[in-house]
Amino acid sequence: MEKDKESKMGIGGLLRRLLPFVLPYRWLLVVTLVLTFVGSLMAQVNAVVLDRAVDAINELLHLDGGFMWGAAVRILVTISAVLLGKEVLSALTTFGQRIFGEKIRINVSRDLSLRVVDRILQFRMAFFSQDGNEPGKLQTRIDRGIMSLSNTVKNFFIDILPLFTSAVLALVLMYAANVYVGLVATAIIPVYFWITTVQGRRMKGWRHRVFGTHQQLSHGILNIIESMGVIKSFNRERLEAAKQATLQEQSTDQQMQTRRISFIYEGLKTFVEQIGTVLIIILTAYLVLVDYPGMSIGKIMYHVMLFANVSAPIRQMHRIYDDLNDALVYAEGFFGILDADEEVEESGKWTVAGGQRVRGRFELKNVEFTYPSGTHAIRDLTMTIEPGETTALVGLSGAGKSTIVNLLDKFYSPDSGSITLDGVPLGEWDTQVLRDNIGLVLQKNHIFSGTIEENIRYGRPDATHDEVLEAARKAYIYDQVIALPEGFESNATQLSGGQQQRIAIARMFLKDPPIIFLDEPTASLDAIATEQIKNSIDAIKQGRTVIVISHNIGQIIDSDRIYVLDAGHCVQSGTTDEVYRQGGLYKEIFDASARSMNVDKIGRLRDSVS
Ligand code: ADP
Repeated sequence: MEKDKESKMGIGGLLRRLLPFVLPYRWLLVVTLVLTFVGSLMAQVNAVVLDRAVDAINELLHLDGGFMWGAAVRILVTISAVLLGKEVLSALTTFGQRIFGEKIRINVSRDLSLRVVDRILQFRMAFFSQDGNEPGKLQTRIDRGIMSLSNTVKNFFIDILPLFTSAVLALVLMYAANVYVGLVATAIIPVYFWITTVQGRRMKGWRHRVFGTHQQLSHGILNIIESMGVIKSFNRERLEAAKQATLQEQSTDQQMQTRRISFIYEGLKTFVEQIGTVLIIILTAYLVLVDYPGMSIGKIMYHVMLFANVSAPIRQMHRIYDDLNDALVYAEGFFGILDADEEVEESGKWTVAGGQRVRGRFELKNVEFTYPSGTHAIRDLTMTIEPGETTALVGLSGAGKSTIVNLLDKFYSPDSGSITLDGVPLGEWDTQVLRDNIGLVLQKNHIFSGTIEENIRYGRPDATHDEVLEAARKAYIYDQVIALPEGFESNATQLSGGQQQRIAIARMFLKDPPIIFLDEPTASLDAIATEQIKNSIDAIKQGRTVIVISHNIGQIIDSDRIYVLDAGHCVQSGTTDEVYRQGGLYKEIFDASARSMNVDKIGRLRDSVS
């Protein structure tokens, strides 16, 4: 989200967006509203009792026959009984109103979370590599959004509504008692609203800035935790602390600025409220003194207390207004996620008939692809992946090899050109069917927190325990796992990089797909493990379409076909022999690889020993 962008969503818009989330709880809402109304009636009782009590006591003091203890006790007992009864009833209604209001808030908050998670799971990969959608920032948008939206529900149903109903009732009672007093009380309201609006105008912009800084801060902290190893090894703790300090300083300034504005206007509003109270006291006292019909000394207290009920919600208004403005900003970020329709993965309808398997013939024609960040990663690429063959993608880092895998798995769609699988455009394939038929082993292992068994079973959730063990055996990880104190119940995130890679391969064995993409599958393995994995990959290759990306020449020369990429473009293709004989980039990479491995010396040493 841009820092200085003003919120386009108005309060009405916000409530409209919230309504579908509140509607499922409409009965709870009705009960809450009824309780709210009862509570508002209760809130006026004190004023009425005080009015009557003062007048009754006053009358008693001025009786011709002198003070009567019996009457005084009767008045006091009545006051106590009414006030006590009212307190009990009021406590019950407040409890009920709060608990039901909270229930609505908690449920709405849960539904919002479920909805956004649901949504995020549907998005294309491109969404996550866009600016502003980095994990820390997304998390802040979601957390803040849910918090302030559910707060809006709470503000509305638990705080504002009872207060405003009570204010309206109090105002009605004031008018009923005396029109002039009612008018004075009413006159204060627009002044209040005006001050609040001016305050709101001055606060605008600041809120967005505060939020933007907050997003950057939490993203920064997440970054620090993720890169702790690098920070420590380079002794860059101070540098990172300084970066955070600058942001924190910015955040502190922005927060202070918003608070300063807030406090000035709050002070102003309290002042106006006090003036209102004084005016009402003076007016009522004057009316009592001139013996205005219906005016008695009790009315002074009565009016002051009623006015307190009128001004209470207005006093709360700045907080609610602040919260509501926050909610407008956060809601925009939050609903922005729910509304990102164009980011939802499209799925075609094409599928394979029951029992049949995808063959795995990929054809790419003049494919162009640019990442959302603007990197033009694939340029005019034409190539064919033959089914049942192993195709190796060779090229220097950044040549676009992993991007091809991303395109074939439909994580991204090409800008132009066509990609077909078994003659059907990739876009027309049912995405789930497509991915059910593709096994992916990436450079970086994706191990979830959980046990080793759970992680392997991710390949096929309905696999039996024995099938999981069998997959682990094929991936050459079984012996190492059972040697662990907790065996297959051990925490998978604590395994070494190479072991995690084999868990990922075991997962693929369990999935047993006809197409396999291996993106540097042995990048983090030791020599023995690499050989073991190579053997198991050789075994699983049979009858499948395999695309392998590797810097390991040993894995590349085993493939049936090679595509050499340079800056997203295919520069050479053919069998290993053909491509090597052509010279060019492949020969360069091949020879450099052999030299770096010291193949000649290794060969001589092995010959001399055997
Ligand atoms: P290779 O696998 O050959 O090392 P990649 O396909 O990973 O290369 O990258 C090709 C180009 O695309 C590089 O310039 C890289 O920086 C860029 N790139 C890769 N992934 C992303 C991404 N998620 N967002 C933006 N650019 C990317």
